[in-house]
Amino acid sequence: MHPDLVKLLELQVRDRALLDADHELSAILAEVEALDQQLTDQEAAVTRARAQVADATHRRQEIDLKLENYRKLEERGRQHLEQVRTPKEMQAVNVELDLARSILAKEEAEWIRVAEQIANAEAQVQEGEKRFGMLQEAQVTARTEIAGRQAAAVERRQVALTARAGVAAAVEQSLRIRYERLRRVKSVTVVVALSGAACGSCHTTVPLNRRSQMRAGMLIDSCESCGVILYAGDDVA
Ligand SMILES: [Zn+2]
Repeated sequence: MHPDLVKLLELQVRDRALLDADHELSAILAEVEALDQQLTDQEAAVTRARAQVADATHRRQEIDLKLENYRKLEERGRQHLEQVRTPKEMQAVNVELDLARSILAKEEAEWIRVAEQIANAEAQVQEGEKRFGMLQEAQVTARTEIAGRQAAAVERRQVALTARAGVAAAVEQSLRIRYERLRRVKSVTVVVALSGAACGSCHTTVPLNRRSQMRAGMLIDSCESCGVILYAGDDVA
């Protein structure tokens, strides 16, 4: 085999190890993210409940103002009633009074309904805050355990990265550039053994003379069909 190919294959092995380390680290970070998401969701529930408390409190203030106005109207109506002189006047004042009282009754019922909403929402805030605290506490052990694995994974990734850089530096430059470019557009495996007379990746037949040259270690060639860098494996006769 061409000596540059031997180094390139070694680089591919190192890159795969680096990729494994990347995946391992990503999986761990995803675990942390899932824990964070649990807290975020719980926090959002509390925020929603707080907004409900604020909304309902605002509505109750509006109702308070209305109640104050209609109570004044009712009071004024009662005073008028004492001053009326004719039955017609009395009837008119009574109509006004009835109206004010019916609106008052409606608004008072609404006030009670809104007060219940506030109490419910406040209970939800309390419950939500309690749950948030419990969740945080429950996550402590998991987070400690994950942090340990994360540190180890970061360490392993760093080792893989250093090893990879060392091997990469030994690969002939133009071949390395070709390899890196292929890796960016293709999958992880871009240096592929011949499978019989064909490319081990896409199974397109490789002409005999080129195969012979590959086997003799004279040629570093790419598959004309899929572009991978080909080599003759030991199992190929
Ligand atoms: Zn191919």
